[in-house]
Amino acid sequence: MKWQGRARSTNVEDRRGMGGKGIAGIGGGLGLIIALIFAFVSGDPGVILDQVSGNQASVPAQTTAMEDEAKEFISVVLADTERIWSQIFEENGMEYVEPTLVLYSGSVQSACGAAGASVGPFYCPADYKLYIDLSFYEELSTKYNAPGDFAMAYVVAHEVGHHVQTLLGTTDKVMPLRQRLSEEEFNKYLVRFELQADYFSGVWAHHADGLGYLEDGDIEEALAAASAVGDDTLQKRAQGYVVEESFTHGTSEQRMTWFRKGYETGTIQGGDTFNSRP
Ligand SMILES: [Zn+2]
Repeated sequence: MKWQGRARSTNVEDRRGMGGKGIAGIGGGLGLIIALIFAFVSGDPGVILDQVSGNQASVPAQTTAMEDEAKEFISVVLADTERIWSQIFEENGMEYVEPTLVLYSGSVQSACGAAGASVGPFYCPADYKLYIDLSFYEELSTKYNAPGDFAMAYVVAHEVGHHVQTLLGTTDKVMPLRQRLSEEEFNKYLVRFELQADYFSGVWAHHADGLGYLEDGDIEEALAAASAVGDDTLQKRAQGYVVEESFTHGTSEQRMTWFRKGYETGTIQGGDTFNSRP
């Protein structure tokens, strides 16, 4: 992706090295955390229960040059999502509200609760914020074998996709089902919800391409990442077999398919994953 020297989003909050301190109390005053999050990899929507110690000392931010470059890259991608989604919302007679991206290391407090690094990138609909631990950028190529800058761009755009779903009212329609349905039934909705975030990530890629920002191989990098984080692939690797009822994000094939569909069509309307074959 062509990103060097381009405009960066100003909606980036750098909390690296803060260990979650300084914002304690946001949504956590009662000690009970009820909001759901939408993580990039399996496990969401989870109620974040890892408690961050309230008196954890702040350590000075130790950032590496590689992380600083990742921060710049992600800030450019976020700016692109703002520009593109504002335009799409406007064309549909709506107004896009920009989300904030929080960079953290170790653990972080959100309006959805406290999260540890193991959660991976996530979105909290209660505060309109995306949370990303920059170490995930590295993990994409090492742990998930999906290298390349556009693999990470797909991750950011997927979390922004959850923000779009929140603005469109989809999140509020789907989440209450969690109380009414069995876990197995709810997971079917979750998969469609997650595939829609992949679709919206593709919609973003379509328009970023239209603006001339993509390079050869970018779409392949995103597809490789989508494939790497499919539930079937992750489960096979972790336990050697697949339990379809526990899928929350869709198979590798489904995740690639919906990203590709979004990339091809570039519209909100083409992404009705709830009434289509997943
Ligand atoms: Zn997700």
